[in-house]
Amino acid sequence: MPKTTFMISVEVKIAREGANINEILEAVGEAHSKLGVQLAEGVIEWLQEDVRNRLCRADRQAKKSLGRHSDKRSPPRRCRCRSFVKEGFRQHKRRLATDLGEIGFRVGRVSCRRCGGKFAPILDVLGLQRCQGHSAQLERIAAEATCRTSFARSVAEVDGLAGVPVSGSSSHRWVASLDLPVAKPPPLEMLLADGTAYKKAGGRRGELRIAVGVTETGKIIPLGTWSGVDWRTIGKSVRRRLRNKKAKIAVLDGEPGLDFHFAKLANCTQRSHWHLLRDLRILLWKDGLKAAQTKPLSVRLRGILGVEIPAGEWEAILPVTKDTLRGQVKEAREAFQAMIDEFGAFGYTHGQRYLEGARDRLFSRIDLWMQTGIIAPRSTGLLEEIMRETGRRIKKLGWNWKDHGVTQEVAMILLQRYSPDQWDAYWRHRLDLQGRCRLRITRFECMN
Ligand SMILES: [Zn+2]
Repeated sequence: MPKTTFMISVEVKIAREGANINEILEAVGEAHSKLGVQLAEGVIEWLQEDVRNRLCRADRQAKKSLGRHSDKRSPPRRCRCRSFVKEGFRQHKRRLATDLGEIGFRVGRVSCRRCGGKFAPILDVLGLQRCQGHSAQLERIAAEATCRTSFARSVAEVDGLAGVPVSGSSSHRWVASLDLPVAKPPPLEMLLADGTAYKKAGGRRGELRIAVGVTETGKIIPLGTWSGVDWRTIGKSVRRRLRNKKAKIAVLDGEPGLDFHFAKLANCTQRSHWHLLRDLRILLWKDGLKAAQTKPLSVRLRGILGVEIPAGEWEAILPVTKDTLRGQVKEAREAFQAMIDEFGAFGYTHGQRYLEGARDRLFSRIDLWMQTGIIAPRSTGLLEEIMRETGRRIKKLGWNWKDHGVTQEVAMILLQRYSPDQWDAYWRHRLDLQGRCRLRITRFECMN
């Protein structure tokens, strides 16, 4: 195993009267980051010389897995020759933005004795792509920073963390090109889907759509993010991901396309009460009602929808309690029907039609609870929260998002927040860390 030692000497000067702890820490911190860059560069250049020497002098065994190159006479076919001559260095240093700071190293070449091709063996060893200007770890830092804060602020944050300027556009490009993992979802209890508007490139309006599942234990499973895709396609893609296994209940906001295509993905659907109340106000306004006239109707509807699932363990609920609940639901349904009829009589056609569409799915959560003990939420509040969180990052920014960029960004935020293990595994795989380079401080002593 190739091995070397770096001698590092550090000069320390301290004022006659001493230095306080903050001054010492500041100075050590600065030296520490410079040392990191120098040490990385030193290790790379030493490794490069070792590789080149082995290729040009050593026996076949020592060259194993080194010196891969394409045949100059018939590229891209691999040349089988294992005999090389050392050549000089490329004119320019190779620069790489990393989480330690910007590092730069000379790139030394060798030439093949048979095909005459010249190449830099160190690049293959380091696993650097052709025009790669940054380390994968830096991408991870940038990606994680965008999840914590807004996109523009994250750029500043990465600057501070890595000591290298990372432009907004490259940060954005990195996130867009991540090949995010898609895991098989576990059985779902609930299914939630919703959309939110955002500003697209060219000032056009885009809609970001998100679907998540909730498992029996309350774990949130992201099922996908889309922009510029209709609910029909989204429904199909979610169905594929669920492998046709239906969720127990879908809580939906009543948007026609969403409702239609997601209803098939669950055993029953519940209309989001929050949306029902909000949308009814808008529709009654279309029917010519003033806010003051709508208010009492809203209050009335809220009352009808207010039937509550009893507290306590489902198994311990007495049959009489369930009977009472059934009675309450029946009454509420009748009151709801009365409201529909009234709207009809007064000619509030928008409102009437809207309520009719929701009628059969007002109390699905109560039916489900009675059968299974599962408590589904009244509204898609969980999703609204996710939307708010992600929306903050994409809406207010001056960034002109494209469909792909925005869905990637949000998919990444969801993955990081709700499947951190998967996010971690993704990076472990991507960085290909196998512990093949180890550093140990062998000597540390003061010179006098
Ligand atoms: Zn060759």
